Amino acid sequence: MDLRRNSKLIDISKLLNFRQILKMIWSNYSPTAEDLASEEFLELNQEASDLYGLIHAWFLLTKTGLAKIYHKFVNQVFGFCPRALCEKQKVLPCGLSDELWTSRVKVFCPKCEEVYIPKFKSINIDGAYFGTSVPHVFMKTFKQAVVLPPVINFYQPSIFGFKLYGKKGSLYHKSTGWIRKSMDDFNL
Ligand SMILES: [Zn+2]
Repeated sequence: MDLRRNSKLIDISKLLNFRQILKMIWSNYSPTAEDLASEEFLELNQEASDLYGLIHAWFLLTKTGLAKIYHKFVNQVFGFCPRALCEKQKVLPCGLSDELWTSRVKVFCPKCEEVYIPKFKSINIDGAYFGTSVPHVFMKTFKQAVVLPPVINFYQPSIFGFKLYGKKGSLYHKSTGWIRKSMDDFNL
């Protein structure tokens, strides 16, 4: 794979020492205490990690990568949605950006379609190492893996059982556009 030509998939413009970091990725060399004290080495090591992470993001979208995600997803390796009304829906890893150094990895819940801070160990991984497309490509590829109920439950605030004006569940909630519009027409 020519990573330089594949710039649409892998942004290597930020990686300055391309050849050196490729060597670092491929070698079995274990850093010494002296290496770890060297700022230059640490910088190179970070760049190697970033390149490896971007290759990882690309790999996840391949057939083999998606199969690995499937295995982890069904075994709940990525965890489940922390939202009570999602009833422990299994989640998928994702990044909020395909650009490096934007945010840490998150998990996406197919039920509420929200992202959350993961509970798995590798919480400090750059989100770009997973990328923004993984959950959506996964769900298109393995439609049977994510079976959602016909109605997704959302919390509806109420006071003594009465729904609140303008809040979820209310007839006048913004999402009920046609009602909102008719109210506007009558200057309500
Ligand atoms: Zn959820």
